[in-house]
Amino acid sequence: MEIYILTLFPEMVTDALSHSIVGRAAASGKLRIHALNIRDYSTDAHKKVDDYPYGGGAGMVMFCQPIYDCVNAAKEMSGGDAPVIYMSPQGERFDQGIAKELSGNQSIILLCGHYEGIDERVIEEVVDRQISIGDYVLTGGELAAMVVADAVARLVPGVLHNDQSAAGESFENDLLEYPQYTRPRVWRDREVPEILLSGDHAKVDAWRYEQSVERTKRLRPDLLREG
Ligand code: SAM
Repeated sequence: MEIYILTLFPEMVTDALSHSIVGRAAASGKLRIHALNIRDYSTDAHKKVDDYPYGGGAGMVMFCQPIYDCVNAAKEMSGGDAPVIYMSPQGERFDQGIAKELSGNQSIILLCGHYEGIDERVIEEVVDRQISIGDYVLTGGELAAMVVADAVARLVPGVLHNDQSAAGESFENDLLEYPQYTRPRVWRDREVPEILLSGDHAKVDAWRYEQSVERTKRLRPDLLREG
């Protein structure tokens, strides 16, 4: 899979996505992350990308031309039909379901705004979808794009070592994951639940399912109501 991130701060995303599981997947070619600098596409003599908002008001607005050209360049590199997703606090709320949906694409293009955001006309012209990572306002779309890239990347087949490890996780079947334990068996007088040491896989599975339901009811009852 290829993820294109269109940003004014490419190092921010390439650095952050070069570690651990996502970094290894990129190094092995299972995933390719391209960070395109929107400023490189500005035809302005001083490589400007923003201007004052019409109608007045605080802050600057990223203007259409560099974004339009950068999106078109990414589309061309990706082969043409990658969805263009604008990271925006006004978008639909990102969740595991959307991550799964996006992981089915050969390529996706994540557009990061900055300052007061981007000129509405370029959103109308090139954006297929707007995604928010939550009801708060960030200074730029980079952190949001990294959240989406990370969540999507780990669902790409082969990125996680064991394909099963995405299967029982939180939000699968609208449940949170059961509690996990590792060695030592006793830590500060706290023991690992006996059943996990029993070697009886059917009983372990049943216990884990009960635990998932119990903690979902306690911590995220909204998931059960929605499901
Ligand atoms: N003026 C905009 C508004 O009120 O809707 C906010 C602009 S914000 C300061 C600058 C950029 O950060 C946005 O263009 C967007 O790309 C990104 N951004 C901010 N909050 C976000 C969120 N919750 N989810 C995704 N992207 C976000």
